[in-house]
This record gives sequence, structure tokens and C-alpha cells, in this order.
Amino acid sequence: MKHQLAGKAFHSEFLAAVEKHCEQEISACYQCGKCSAGCPVFEDMAIAPNRVIRMVQLGLKEDALKNEMIWCCAGCSACTCRCPIGIDLARMMDTLRQMATHDGVPMPPDGARVFTFFQAFLDSVREFGRLSEVALMGSYNINSGRIMTNVVKAPWFLLKGKVGIIPHKIKRTDRLKRVFRRIEEIEGS
Ligand code: SF4
Ligand code: SF4
Repeated sequence: MKHQLAGKAFHSEFLAAVEKHCEQEISACYQCGKCSAGCPVFEDMAIAPNRVIRMVQLGLKEDALKNEMIWCCAGCSACTCRCPIGIDLARMMDTLRQMATHDGVPMPPDGARVFTFFQAFLDSVREFGRLSEVALMGSYNINSGRIMTNVVKAPWFLLKGKVGIIPHKIKRTDRLKRVFRRIEEIEGS
């Protein structure tokens, strides 16, 4: 696949695969940086979102799939709203996460912690049909190895009624578990 931008040609199987998967014309990005300027997590990252796009344009697959930005992206779509040419960058990040998972690319430490948080969130929803903050915190702290994260704040949260110890559960969680199983089957196929 060949893309022409400001007199420069982009050739890359990786670029073509990402564009096809996320259905976005990544090659059209002209690096204005508006996406990164509005990104709420960029300040804590070594790599800006527009640099991840650049890696994709240049076919730097390994760099694009192993950097922490793709895992720490909150999927808020602020970048997507700000892009003057309408590139859905949040969707591209999603694609890169899926490709990294599929290829077994090791996650950077911060990325792994965010992934542990995602898992803890999903486990709570699968089990109770809604988020239980206590279950989320317990699961995240144990699985991330950060046992004491937020523990000192827990009594204050409980006293103020911000979180409940007993999780609220919806009826028929078996149906929800079936949905999760079906998604896992689709993802595995
Ligand atoms: S979707 Fe991700 S990259 Fe875009 S602004 Fe939100 S956190 Fe940043
Ligand atoms: S705002 Fe759009 S055109 Fe500008 S750098 Fe980001 S993705 Fe590229």
C-alpha cells in the first residue's frame, strides 16, 4: 500500500493493516499535534499520541506496539474530537492494543498495571453486573502487586458512604456471564 503526503510516500504493510483494522486513514495525519494537546494522559507519558501515529505511518511496528501510550490511553476520544481531519485516534489505539495482544508483545510496566485495572473492572462487572469498588480495589491491589494502593483512604471512603463493603448485584448475572463467554469465543476465533 502506498500513501502520498506532502511529497513523501509511505509504504508499509503495518500501516495498511492498521488502517484496514481501524478503518481510519492514518496516512492523512499531518502531525499538527492537536490530538496530543488535548490528551489527558499525555503529560505522564514518554510518547505523545501523535508520535504513535507517526510510528504507524513509518511502519515502525515494534515501537508502536510496545510503547506504554497504547495501554495507558483512556479511550476518552478527546483526541478524536480535536483532530481537524477527523481521524479517530482512540480507535487506532484500540487496534494497536488488539494487535499487541494478538502478537504477544510484552507490555511495558505502566501498561501492564492499566491492563490489570481493566481486568479487575471487567471481573467485577462479570460477577455482579455492576462495578463494586471494593472488589475492584482488592483485585487490582493483589494482581498488580501494589497491595497498599488507596488502602489508607479506604476508611474515609467507607465512613462517608462513598463505597459499600457489600457489592450490589443485579438479577440474572448468568445471562451476563453468557455474554462475556460469547465475546471470549468471538475474540478467540
Ligand atoms: S483517547 Fe487516548 S490518546 Fe486520545 S485523548 Fe483520550 S487518552 Fe489521549
Ligand atoms: S490532530 Fe489529527 S492530524 Fe493532527 S496530529 Fe493528531 S491525528 Fe494527526
